[in-house]
Order: sequence, then C-alpha cells, then structure tokens
Amino acid sequence: MTASVRLMSERMNQKSYQSSMEISSAEAVLLDGIRRHQALTKNDLVALTDFSRSKIAGCVNSLLEKKILTKDGYSDNTGGRRSVLYTLNGKRGLLFGADIGATSIDLIITDLNRKVLARYSESALVSEGPQKVLDRVTGLFIELVEKHGLSNRPVLAFGVGVPGPVNFKEGMVVSPPIMPGWDQFPIVDYLNEQWPDTLIIIDNDVNIMALGEYTNQEGRDRKNIIFIKIGTGIGAGIISNGEIYRGSSGCAGDIGHICVDKNGPICPCGNRGCLEVLAGGAAIAERVMRAVREGKSPILRKYLDKNSGKLTAKEVGAAAKEGDETSIEIIRESGRLIGEVLAVLVNFYNPGRIVIGGGVSKFGNLLLASIRQSVLKRSLPLATKDLPIVFSTIIDDAGVFGAINLALDQLLIRQISD
Ligand SMILES: [Zn+2]
Repeated sequence: MTASVRLMSERMNQKSYQSSMEISSAEAVLLDGIRRHQALTKNDLVALTDFSRSKIAGCVNSLLEKKILTKDGYSDNTGGRRSVLYTLNGKRGLLFGADIGATSIDLIITDLNRKVLARYSESALVSEGPQKVLDRVTGLFIELVEKHGLSNRPVLAFGVGVPGPVNFKEGMVVSPPIMPGWDQFPIVDYLNEQWPDTLIIIDNDVNIMALGEYTNQEGRDRKNIIFIKIGTGIGAGIISNGEIYRGSSGCAGDIGHICVDKNGPICPCGNRGCLEVLAGGAAIAERVMRAVREGKSPILRKYLDKNSGKLTAKEVGAAAKEGDETSIEIIRESGRLIGEVLAVLVNFYNPGRIVIGGGVSKFGNLLLASIRQSVLKRSLPLATKDLPIVFSTIIDDAGVFGAINLALDQLLIRQISD
C-alpha cells in the first residue's frame, strides 16, 4: 500500500469512527451527567435526569453498543444488588488540547475520559505568525502520538486556546493586538488539513481557562464564575450557568480597557487610564524597574542581581513578604484597581465565584487581600455574602485542560443526530 493510499484508508476509518459517534439528544444528556461525575449507575442517571428507567436502559445500551460508554466496576454496596457504574470509554479515541500563549505552547493529549496520556510545553512566540506556530503545534502532536504509541486511535476533537479575540463561529481570531499576522487567519481550516475528520475548535485563552476552572472546581456547585487573567494584559472569562458566555460577537469579558483613571497614561488602544495600562504585568514591570533604578528598593535590587537582570511577579511577591515597601505598594495599588473593576462586575453579574489567574497572580496573598478589600468595599453586601475570591488552583494547567473540556463539550453537542 502506498503512503497516500494508506493515509486515505486511515482517514476513511476515522470518518466511520466519527459517524458511529452520533448520539441522540437523550443520550447527550446522559453523557453530560456521566462526564461531570466520572462514573454513574443507572439509578444515579434516573435521579439526575428524571428519565424513566426504561429510557435510561435503552440509552445506556445504545451507548455501550456504540462503544462511547463502558462499564467501570460497581458502585459501593449499600445493601441489595450492586449496581454497575458506567463511564466514558477512554479507548474510543483521543482529545487534543493546545494552549497557545504569547510566549509559550502547552499541549496535552487525553482519552475521552480526560485521562492525560501525553503532555508537552515549550517557549514559543505567537508573534512569529500562524503558519510557523501552527506547524510547530502540529509537528509536536504528531511526535507525541508516535512517542506514546497512540497512532492507532482516532483524534476525535482538538481544542485550541489563543491569546486574542476569537470569532468562535468562523474559527479565526479578529484584530488581535499581540498576534501579528493572525488576523482572520483560518486556523480551523489550516489544522483540518492535517486532521480532516477531527472536530477542531478555537477560543480565546481566557474563556478556555475559565472553563478549565469551572470543570475542576470541587463539587462544581458554582455555575456562574468570573475568571480574571492578569498577565501582560488583563481579561475575564465568564461562565454563565455552566457554559462560556461569549456575548453577541465573541468579545465579552474584555475588561482590560475599562477606564480606571481618566487622567491616567495613554493605553495602546488609544484611550487614557485603562485597567491594563495601570495594573497589567507590563505596567507593573515598568514601575518595578523604575523603583529599582531610582534606588528605592534594595531588596528588589538584590533579586535583580541574583536573576541576571530579570524580575518576575514571583520576586516582587517575595520582596513584599520581606517587607519591601515599594513592592507592597505596587501590589496593593494593582489589587485595588483590579478590585474596583471587579466590584462593578459583581454588582452587574452576581457571580458565585471569582478566580484569579495569570502570571501576576504569583504576587501572592497580598494581591488577593487587596482585591478582596476593594470588592467588598464597593459591592452590594448581598452579592458578596457568599462570594469566594480565590487564586486559580490550576494556574499553569487551566488553559490546556480548558481546551480539552471545550473540545469534549463540542464533540458531544455536535454529534447529536436528532
Ligand atoms: Zn486601553
């Protein structure tokens, strides 16, 4: 068999895999419950869905036949007969997740049950343009698949996060400020050339991180979440009733350009005193370096010399812990400004949880305390009565896991046949 014929036959196999993934809307409800709880019995499914016992039995049998579900042992025996637990069939195929950041690429491969099979991260500049970056991502995934002996499994879905505004329906970024050459580039079509039968989904990195946080939170009891990424820029991902809220043109959550000081410095967007230009990573770095140059912070000078001329949020956080007044003031001011904007969002949206992520969150608890204080001072008491404001627990992983969750969500939604 020639390479091209073999490739074609592999693709045809993949297509048949895809069509046998088709599910009914009732089956989709079951799958959603099962993936949220990892594994459930038929009794659990009856309680969760209000479907009749016979309807549940029919759906479960059909999903077992299609090899989308598999049996996963038995539930704890609570008297009487033990019940079979059902879970998603990990062996059914692969999910790819890619988090393309401004200066890094993080990749993960999982099975359908989101068990991690392979992962890899490296530094990369998104500013090098779509072809170079996407070719690198593609090449790395092919290497990972081969290295981990996964070549015989179809790639069912592929989620990609990018650091810019995304037109979700068209699968492309639109006027991204830090992604030169990417504007309107057909990312989904480009990746589909390599994986023609794979469902490929792209979204803004902050949305994807918010979804990663939502899915990973203990108990998943909070369905309305605001995730704030404080990195070089500042953005928010909104989870509304368990789903990403994108707004009517996909740019909901772009809070970095809310004005916090009418007389503040000019932002690259052209306006004055945007949150990002006063409290974002680049602004903080500039203030920190200025203070060091002016001899205002011997502790930061010590870190700068130790780190061969580089300071990150981690060092500024450490200096603050050691009592460095400059670092404490910079962190407090940053937290106060972010908290002011958050207070408006809290009054407007009444979230059940606020999660802070991104590089600047490595400032530590002083930042969190300052954000909390500002939010509590300016929000309605009813809205903050039970409002945890916490750091992301999966700071470095929220992006890739979010990409996997997005891919799986869309895979199950799009395979509904009725
Ligand atoms: Zn701005």
